[in-house]
Amino acid sequence: MATPITLDAVADLRESVSGVVYVRGDEGLDDEAACYNTAIVHDPDVVVGAGTVDDVVMAVRFAGEHGVPVFVQATGHGAFAPITSGVLITTGRMTGVSIDPASRIATIDAGTRWGEVVEAGARYGLAPITGSSISVGAIGYTLGGGLGPLSRTYGFTADWARGFTVVTADGRVVRATAEENPDLFWALRGGKGGLGVVVEMDLELVPLTHVYGGGLFFDTAHIEDAMRAWVDWVHTVPDTVTSSVALVRFPPIEEVPEALRGKFVLHLRFAFVGDDAEGERLLAPIRDAAPAFLDLVGEMPTSAIGSIHNDADQPGPAWDRGMQLKDIDQDFVTAFLARAGAGSDVPFIAIEIRHIGGAAAEEQHGGTAVGGRQAPFTLVMIGVPVPELFAIAMPQKSDYVVSGILPWIASETNINFLGHVASTQQFASAWPSHAFDRLASTRTAWDPDGVFAYGP
Ligand SMILES: Cc1cc2nc3c(=O)[nH]c(=O)nc-3n(C[C@H](O)[C@H](O)[C@H](O)COP(=O)(O)OP(=O)(O)OC[C@H]3O[C@@H](n4cnc5c(N)ncnc54)[C@H](O)[C@@H]3O)c2cc1C
Repeated sequence: MATPITLDAVADLRESVSGVVYVRGDEGLDDEAACYNTAIVHDPDVVVGAGTVDDVVMAVRFAGEHGVPVFVQATGHGAFAPITSGVLITTGRMTGVSIDPASRIATIDAGTRWGEVVEAGARYGLAPITGSSISVGAIGYTLGGGLGPLSRTYGFTADWARGFTVVTADGRVVRATAEENPDLFWALRGGKGGLGVVVEMDLELVPLTHVYGGGLFFDTAHIEDAMRAWVDWVHTVPDTVTSSVALVRFPPIEEVPEALRGKFVLHLRFAFVGDDAEGERLLAPIRDAAPAFLDLVGEMPTSAIGSIHNDADQPGPAWDRGMQLKDIDQDFVTAFLARAGAGSDVPFIAIEIRHIGGAAAEEQHGGTAVGGRQAPFTLVMIGVPVPELFAIAMPQKSDYVVSGILPWIASETNINFLGHVASTQQFASAWPSHAFDRLASTRTAWDPDGVFAYGP
């Protein structure tokens, strides 16, 4: 029988953990629960800033005894709705990476950001298959699948996960690998939430020190030519090329480099795994299609992978909406630019389209819960950082863009690219229906009382 949370119970919890415990109203709770998206302010009953695996176990048991839900947060990059009750476990103190160079396995602690894994791997000539931003949490990202600048060559990051150590709903610490608890292992590779707190992840790294990659920036006048060339070209490139384009409206502020300040541009991102001369040859049709006013593509160490997309890494108010696309063509470019191009006034700081497919389309031996494998492009609209627009204007304007490109929108998507979830149906679209159903039964098996809150 659940008992209400009392200050005495919180005091006992505080005594027994090595990290910190805040109760609603405590000074310090807001900072502990702060998100990358500053428009979201969490206000749970209790926050446990876990320092150790035992702290996580105690926090989960505490929530179970008091009949309240558990939430997990590492960096807050994936926060889309405020948490208003229950226990929030923050993992930002649990960071670290150890690497076994012989097996190429990195063991990554719960709160570790990609930057730390990239740096640790580089010391051994190894690289993790990261996302575009190295300030994102490695575990939260991988639990959703994970598509990054090298995904067409190496697939989803979850495809490289070899094991998880998990605190389950009943406060046990279990392993999930292809051999041990394979149902949980299947679900953690792409199923994202509602399964437990991952306190450690084993990730296989790839032997890779350099890529030929970077960004090309095309001025407003050349957006259409460059984008049309890109859409034809993506159908010709090998799986060793991963690329994306983003229509970016750079604000006229000092923080933006002068060359980009106040401009509306097409930012084309390119990464080739192979030698520079071949990379240069493969990129030539794009370079020939339109003049780039900034060409930053060249040989780069994999430790600089975050510079390919150059995502913003400072917290701020954020709104985004994502989906996946079926094959795109010249008619798509016409329809897309009519709604989102230079002549439109949509309030998006960036609209990004990534080319996936390649290795990301190949299911793994034993399977994974990853959604979106079969749709070859992702599209994400990132709103201007003006919270007053988030409730009505942003959804309306995103609907306006979407309604212009409906024929190209895929029915399936991926949870890391969904952004703000508007409905249960939209949430379910983040997995193929058979995976969604299997995830629901796996969650029930591991968390019959629904301790881990997840989903809309
Ligand atoms: C700037 C930016 C760039 C991005 N780039 C990419 C990209 O290139 N590719 C891509 O696939 N995605 C990308 N994403 C999406 C990102 O992968 C997800 O938002 C991811 O959930 C962030 O994980 P986090 O731990 O940093 O965030 P958090 O908000 O801390 O966590 C998000 C969710 O992950 C789960 N979670 C986190 N840690 C644990 C844990 N230890 N145990 C159990 N559950 C946990 C929880 O459900 C939590 O709600 C990007 C997001 C941003 C904001």
